[in-house]
Amino acid sequence: MHRLISLGIYGLCLTRLCLAQEVTPAQGAAAAHTVVVRARTLIDGTSAQPRANQEILIQGDRITAVYAAGTRPPPPGAQVLDLGNSTVLPGLIDCHTHIFLQGEVPAAGGYDVQLLKFPASYRAARAVVAARRALEQGFTTIRDVETEGAGYGDLGIKQAINEGYIPGPRMFVVTRAISTTGGYPLEGYAPEITVPKGAQLIDGPVEARKAAREQLDHGADWIKVYMTHRSWLDEQGALVSQPTLTLEEIQAIVDEAHGWRKKVACHAYNGIGLQRALDGGCDSIEHGLELTDAQVTQMVKQGTWLVPTLAVYYYDPEPADTPSGQRDRKRVAVHGPSFRKALRGGVKIAFGTDVGGFPWSDPIAAEFARMVEFGMTPMQAIQAATSRAAELLGERGQLGVIAPGAYADVIAVSGDPLADVGVLKNVSFVMKNGSVFRSTLRQPGE
Ligand SMILES: [Zn+2]
Repeated sequence: MHRLISLGIYGLCLTRLCLAQEVTPAQGAAAAHTVVVRARTLIDGTSAQPRANQEILIQGDRITAVYAAGTRPPPPGAQVLDLGNSTVLPGLIDCHTHIFLQGEVPAAGGYDVQLLKFPASYRAARAVVAARRALEQGFTTIRDVETEGAGYGDLGIKQAINEGYIPGPRMFVVTRAISTTGGYPLEGYAPEITVPKGAQLIDGPVEARKAAREQLDHGADWIKVYMTHRSWLDEQGALVSQPTLTLEEIQAIVDEAHGWRKKVACHAYNGIGLQRALDGGCDSIEHGLELTDAQVTQMVKQGTWLVPTLAVYYYDPEPADTPSGQRDRKRVAVHGPSFRKALRGGVKIAFGTDVGGFPWSDPIAAEFARMVEFGMTPMQAIQAATSRAAELLGERGQLGVIAPGAYADVIAVSGDPLADVGVLKNVSFVMKNGSVFRSTLRQPGE
């Protein structure tokens, strides 16, 4: 039984239930305090090997030095946090989340009730909980890839986190996302009824560019585009995905986003839609269930990232004797080999999970085991969720690394994640921006 301790930095109360009411903007803002974190084992996010017995000097919200323990006295007034035998890592980064989804099962109304029955305030309240769940699990940064009918709600959650009103990770948000007519739910209602859609639907390059402009104008950090939608099995049993945007439409969006120095994430399973995403200059392929050799080569040449989200496809498949059940199994069957092919071919891969597509109460870090199952070393998987993810986000050296100049996002786990990535599911210490959010570690002398 771990004993919760108060480290007196983030707002004193470190239990799950009382933190939000304890944190005020003044407390949430990083004070210019000095902290020394002692790490028996440090995985710094970029080095090939862990380093033993290190100290991390943190001033305010930044790491200012990393050095062998005992080689420098702590600065006067510094708080020393000895993390004991834990393994210390950079805060993790999930590049594919949905805080406005809660993993609803069809029996509970599935996706549709979210848009049809729930007040925006209810969805926002649950998004606040989801954001906190990310941080509790050691994910100090997320790229949240669309609000699923909750409009620009992600901007408000991000602002509330940044101003210290609620706990949560650093957020990169895409707002509404873009697809085409026939390219996103809600679907299956009488044609006479107008139902809300989970994304902003466009037809033609003019509407495509306008949607991108609107979203960027309102504050989107990234643009998210759905390049495939429905999928099924053809007569030969091959996976087919319905393409959505034309090449001209995606090119208009990419051109507009790149002009703003923003990037475009493309949901794409396989086939024509995935090819258009690559030809259109997408910056990251989300899911990439079935990449061809030529597409792998093109991704390497263009520097396109892959955010695979492996684990989510193992959730709740339809019954095996139904067409959709067979499709679900085919998705899983092709995804692993596609990931292996991308890895072997040298595609840049960043960690992403689609959490929200499964409940936020489940461990986000379950993805690590799938990445290792399909060919990554544990260190590669960890770097995909740290320094590589930071590179995708344009934050190299700022996030996903424990090194001077980086934000002081630091986590710790018991055990050795290089021997068993499963230990990343149990994070015992979380610091974001130099402030301790949670710690179940015992301090010496307590
Ligand atoms: Zn998603």
